[in-house]
Amino acid sequence: MPRPRLYVTDAIVLSRFDLGEADRVLTLITPRDGKLKAIAKGVRRPTSRLGGSLEPFAELRVALARGRTFDVVTQVSVGHAWLRLRDSLESAATAWYLAELADRSLEERHEAEPLYGLLRRAYELLDAGRVPGRVARWYEMHLADELGVRPEVDRCVECDRMLEPTETFRWVPPLGGVLCERHPGPPVSRAGLSIEALKVLKAYQRLDVEALAGLRLPAGVEREVEAAMREFIRIALERDPRSLAFLDEVRAGAPGMVRTSRTVGGE
Ligand SMILES: [Zn+2]
Repeated sequence: MPRPRLYVTDAIVLSRFDLGEADRVLTLITPRDGKLKAIAKGVRRPTSRLGGSLEPFAELRVALARGRTFDVVTQVSVGHAWLRLRDSLESAATAWYLAELADRSLEERHEAEPLYGLLRRAYELLDAGRVPGRVARWYEMHLADELGVRPEVDRCVECDRMLEPTETFRWVPPLGGVLCERHPGPPVSRAGLSIEALKVLKAYQRLDVEALAGLRLPAGVEREVEAAMREFIRIALERDPRSLAFLDEVRAGAPGMVRTSRTVGGE
Protein backbone atom coordinates (compact mmCIF):
# COMPACT_ATOMS: atom_id res chain seq x y z
CA MET A 1 0.00 0.00 0.00
CA PRO A 2 1.46 3.37 -0.93
CA ARG A 3 2.09 5.61 2.04
CA PRO A 4 -0.11 8.70 2.30
CA ARG A 5 1.33 11.97 1.08
CA LEU A 6 0.56 13.71 4.34
CA TYR A 7 1.26 12.11 7.67
CA VAL A 8 1.64 12.98 11.33
CA THR A 9 4.18 11.43 13.66
CA ASP A 10 5.91 11.78 16.98
CA ALA A 11 9.52 12.76 16.43
CA ILE A 12 12.70 13.83 18.18
CA VAL A 13 15.23 16.04 16.40
CA LEU A 14 18.60 14.27 16.26
CA SER A 15 20.52 16.92 14.36
CA ARG A 16 19.97 19.78 11.97
CA PHE A 17 21.69 22.09 9.59
CA ASP A 18 20.78 25.37 7.95
CA LEU A 19 20.05 25.43 4.26
CA GLY A 20 19.84 28.50 2.06
CA GLU A 21 18.65 31.75 3.55
CA ALA A 22 15.92 30.61 5.89
CA ASP A 23 15.45 26.86 5.71
CA ARG A 24 16.68 24.14 7.99
CA VAL A 25 17.11 20.43 7.35
CA LEU A 26 16.33 18.21 10.32
CA THR A 27 17.24 14.62 10.98
CA LEU A 28 14.32 13.17 12.92
CA ILE A 29 13.83 9.89 14.68
CA THR A 30 10.26 8.64 14.59
CA PRO A 31 8.80 5.41 15.98
CA ARG A 32 7.41 3.96 12.74
CA ASP A 33 9.33 5.61 9.91
CA GLY A 34 12.64 5.44 11.73
CA LYS A 35 15.19 8.06 10.88
CA LEU A 36 14.28 10.55 8.20
CA LYS A 37 15.35 13.93 6.92
CA ALA A 38 12.81 16.70 6.70
CA ILE A 39 13.01 20.30 5.63
CA ALA A 40 11.48 23.16 7.58
CA LYS A 41 11.05 25.93 5.05
CA GLY A 42 11.47 29.49 6.20
CA VAL A 43 11.95 28.35 9.78
CA ARG A 44 14.76 30.79 10.44
CA ARG A 45 12.59 33.80 9.67
CA PRO A 46 11.28 35.52 12.81
CA THR A 47 7.76 35.27 11.46
CA SER A 48 7.87 31.50 10.91
CA ARG A 49 4.98 29.55 12.41
CA LEU A 50 7.25 26.56 12.91
CA GLY A 51 9.71 28.79 14.67
CA GLY A 52 11.08 27.80 18.02
CA SER A 53 9.29 24.46 18.32
CA LEU A 54 11.60 22.47 16.07
CA GLU A 55 14.32 22.08 18.64
CA PRO A 56 16.31 19.04 19.75
CA PHE A 57 15.74 17.42 23.14
CA ALA A 58 11.95 17.53 22.88
CA GLU A 59 9.30 15.11 21.73
CA LEU A 60 7.42 16.78 18.92
CA ARG A 61 4.23 16.06 17.06
CA VAL A 62 5.09 16.80 13.45
CA ALA A 63 2.92 16.93 10.33
CA LEU A 64 4.87 16.15 7.18
CA ALA A 65 4.24 16.12 3.46
CA ARG A 66 6.26 13.64 1.44
CA GLY A 67 8.70 15.32 -0.85
CA ARG A 68 11.19 14.26 -3.51
CA THR A 69 14.38 14.79 -1.55
CA PHE A 70 13.14 15.63 1.92
CA ASP A 71 9.73 15.44 3.50
CA VAL A 72 8.42 18.90 4.30
CA VAL A 73 7.38 19.95 7.80
CA THR A 74 3.96 21.58 7.61
CA GLN A 75 3.03 21.79 11.30
CA VAL A 76 4.65 21.11 14.62
CA SER A 77 3.63 21.09 18.24
CA VAL A 78 5.63 20.18 21.33
CA GLY A 79 4.59 17.03 23.15
CA HIS A 80 7.28 16.94 25.84
CA ALA A 81 9.67 19.85 26.15
CA TRP A 82 11.94 18.30 28.82
CA LEU A 83 13.04 21.80 29.74
CA ARG A 84 14.97 20.79 32.85
CA LEU A 85 17.23 18.63 30.72
CA ARG A 86 18.77 21.88 29.47
CA ASP A 87 19.40 23.34 32.92
CA SER A 88 22.75 21.63 33.17
CA LEU A 89 25.28 21.82 30.39
CA GLU A 90 26.46 18.29 31.14
CA SER A 91 22.93 16.98 30.86
CA ALA A 92 22.40 18.84 27.56
CA ALA A 93 25.74 17.66 26.17
CA THR A 94 24.83 14.11 27.17
CA ALA A 95 21.49 14.48 25.39
CA TRP A 96 23.37 15.51 22.27
CA TYR A 97 25.69 12.50 22.59
CA LEU A 98 22.72 10.12 22.95
CA ALA A 99 21.05 11.65 19.91
CA GLU A 100 24.23 11.23 17.89
CA LEU A 101 24.47 7.56 18.87
CA ALA A 102 20.87 7.04 17.73
CA ASP A 103 21.61 8.88 14.49
CA ARG A 104 24.69 6.73 13.79
CA SER A 105 22.85 3.53 14.64
CA LEU A 106 19.93 3.92 12.26
CA GLU A 107 19.46 3.51 8.56
CA GLU A 108 16.99 5.97 7.10
CA ARG A 109 13.40 4.78 6.84
CA HIS A 110 13.76 1.67 8.91
CA GLU A 111 11.32 1.14 11.74
CA ALA A 112 12.95 2.33 14.97
CA GLU A 113 10.39 1.87 17.70
CA PRO A 114 12.73 0.36 20.35
CA LEU A 115 15.46 2.91 19.79
CA TYR A 116 12.95 5.74 19.77
CA GLY A 117 11.61 4.50 23.11
CA LEU A 118 15.12 4.22 24.48
CA LEU A 119 16.06 7.77 23.55
CA ARG A 120 12.76 9.09 24.84
CA ARG A 121 13.26 7.33 28.19
CA ALA A 122 16.83 8.62 28.46
CA TYR A 123 15.62 12.18 27.94
CA GLU A 124 12.94 11.71 30.59
CA LEU A 125 15.63 10.54 32.99
CA LEU A 126 17.92 13.48 32.22
CA ASP A 127 14.96 15.80 32.64
CA ALA A 128 14.25 14.20 36.01
CA GLY A 129 17.78 15.13 37.09
CA ARG A 130 19.38 11.68 36.95
CA VAL A 131 23.17 11.62 36.84
CA PRO A 132 24.00 12.06 33.13
CA GLY A 133 26.83 9.48 33.18
CA ARG A 134 24.55 6.78 34.56
CA VAL A 135 21.88 7.56 31.99
CA ALA A 136 24.49 7.46 29.22
CA ARG A 137 25.86 4.05 30.33
CA TRP A 138 22.36 2.61 30.65
CA TYR A 139 21.56 3.91 27.16
CA GLU A 140 24.81 2.62 25.64
CA MET A 141 24.20 -0.85 27.07
CA HIS A 142 20.63 -1.02 25.73
CA LEU A 143 21.66 0.52 22.42
CA ALA A 144 24.21 -2.28 22.03
CA ASP A 145 21.35 -4.73 22.63
CA GLU A 146 19.28 -3.07 19.93
CA LEU A 147 22.23 -3.25 17.55
CA GLY A 148 22.44 -6.98 18.24
CA VAL A 149 25.84 -6.73 19.93
CA ARG A 150 24.98 -7.17 23.59
CA PRO A 151 28.32 -7.09 25.44
CA GLU A 152 29.29 -10.49 26.82
CA VAL A 153 30.11 -9.97 30.50
CA ASP A 154 29.65 -13.48 31.92
CA ARG A 155 31.24 -15.96 29.52
CA CYS A 156 34.52 -15.93 27.68
CA VAL A 157 33.89 -14.80 24.10
CA GLU A 158 36.31 -17.45 22.81
CA CYS A 159 35.57 -20.63 24.76
CA ASP A 160 32.10 -19.79 26.13
CA ARG A 161 33.18 -20.76 29.63
CA MET A 162 31.67 -18.92 32.62
CA LEU A 163 34.37 -16.77 34.15
CA GLU A 164 35.40 -17.75 37.66
CA PRO A 165 35.22 -14.87 40.12
CA THR A 166 38.92 -15.17 40.85
CA GLU A 167 40.42 -15.56 37.40
CA THR A 168 41.96 -12.81 35.37
CA PHE A 169 40.25 -11.69 32.20
CA ARG A 170 40.46 -8.99 29.59
CA TRP A 171 37.84 -6.70 28.11
CA VAL A 172 38.08 -7.02 24.34
CA PRO A 173 35.37 -4.97 22.59
CA PRO A 174 36.33 -6.12 19.06
CA LEU A 175 35.50 -9.68 20.19
CA GLY A 176 32.32 -8.60 21.95
CA GLY A 177 33.20 -8.74 25.62
CA VAL A 178 35.36 -10.57 28.14
CA LEU A 179 38.15 -12.96 27.22
CA CYS A 180 39.44 -15.52 29.72
CA GLU A 181 43.04 -16.03 30.68
CA ARG A 182 43.45 -19.17 28.56
CA HIS A 183 43.78 -17.27 25.30
CA PRO A 184 46.71 -15.19 24.21
CA GLY A 185 44.14 -13.17 22.27
CA PRO A 186 44.63 -10.23 19.95
CA PRO A 187 46.41 -7.13 21.17
CA VAL A 188 44.09 -5.04 23.30
CA SER A 189 44.16 -1.31 23.66
CA ARG A 190 43.53 -1.43 27.38
CA ALA A 191 45.33 -3.63 29.87
CA GLY A 192 42.27 -4.76 31.66
CA LEU A 193 39.08 -4.11 33.48
CA SER A 194 38.78 -4.55 37.23
CA ILE A 195 36.38 -7.13 38.62
CA GLU A 196 34.48 -4.24 40.23
CA ALA A 197 33.99 -2.56 36.86
CA LEU A 198 32.87 -5.85 35.31
CA LYS A 199 30.26 -6.19 38.06
CA VAL A 200 28.96 -2.75 37.20
CA LEU A 201 28.71 -3.69 33.51
CA LYS A 202 26.63 -6.69 34.59
CA ALA A 203 24.47 -4.38 36.68
CA TYR A 204 23.83 -2.18 33.64
CA GLN A 205 22.51 -5.25 31.85
CA ARG A 206 20.40 -6.55 34.71
CA LEU A 207 19.14 -3.72 36.86
CA ASP A 208 16.44 -1.26 36.02
CA VAL A 209 17.20 2.42 35.87
CA GLU A 210 15.94 3.16 39.36
CA ALA A 211 18.22 0.56 40.91
CA LEU A 212 21.17 1.79 38.84
CA ALA A 213 20.62 5.34 40.06
CA GLY A 214 20.96 4.10 43.63
CA LEU A 215 24.33 2.37 43.17
CA ARG A 216 27.19 3.89 45.10
CA LEU A 217 30.35 3.47 43.07
CA PRO A 218 33.92 4.71 43.46
CA ALA A 219 34.75 7.36 40.87
CA GLY A 220 37.58 5.23 39.49
CA VAL A 221 35.21 2.35 38.77
CA GLU A 222 32.73 4.68 37.05
CA ARG A 223 35.55 5.93 34.84
CA GLU A 224 36.58 2.38 33.96
CA VAL A 225 33.01 1.50 33.04
CA GLU A 226 32.69 4.64 30.98
CA ALA A 227 35.88 3.90 29.06
CA ALA A 228 34.84 0.27 28.54
CA MET A 229 31.41 1.17 27.17
CA ARG A 230 32.68 4.03 25.04
CA GLU A 231 35.20 1.73 23.42
CA PHE A 232 32.54 -0.91 22.89
CA ILE A 233 30.15 1.56 21.25
CA ARG A 234 32.90 3.13 19.15
CA ILE A 235 33.76 -0.28 17.73
CA ALA A 236 30.10 -1.27 17.25
CA LEU A 237 29.41 1.95 15.32
CA GLU A 238 32.85 1.98 13.66
CA ARG A 239 33.42 5.62 14.50
CA ASP A 240 34.06 8.15 17.23
CA PRO A 241 30.99 10.15 18.13
CA ARG A 242 31.78 13.83 17.47
CA SER A 243 29.77 14.98 20.45
CA LEU A 244 32.05 13.20 22.92
CA ALA A 245 34.78 15.83 22.71
CA PHE A 246 32.25 18.49 23.64
CA LEU A 247 30.82 16.41 26.46
CA ASP A 248 34.29 15.84 27.88
CA GLU A 249 35.12 19.54 27.69
CA VAL A 250 31.92 20.36 29.52
CA ARG A 251 32.71 17.90 32.25
CA ALA A 252 36.23 19.19 32.57
CA GLY A 253 34.68 22.61 33.17
CA ALA A 254 36.55 24.18 30.29
CA PRO A 255 36.15 27.96 30.29
CA GLY A 256 34.05 29.37 27.49
CA MET A 257 31.86 26.31 27.26
CA VAL A 258 28.75 28.23 28.20
CA ARG A 259 29.24 30.42 25.16
CA THR A 260 29.20 27.44 22.84
CA SER A 261 26.26 25.73 24.52
CA ARG A 262 23.85 27.15 21.97
CA THR A 263 25.43 24.94 19.35
CA VAL A 264 24.44 21.79 21.21
CA GLY A 265 22.29 19.74 18.91
CA GLY A 266 23.35 21.68 15.86
CA GLU A 267 25.86 20.88 13.19
ZN1 LIG B 1 38.19 -18.57 27.20
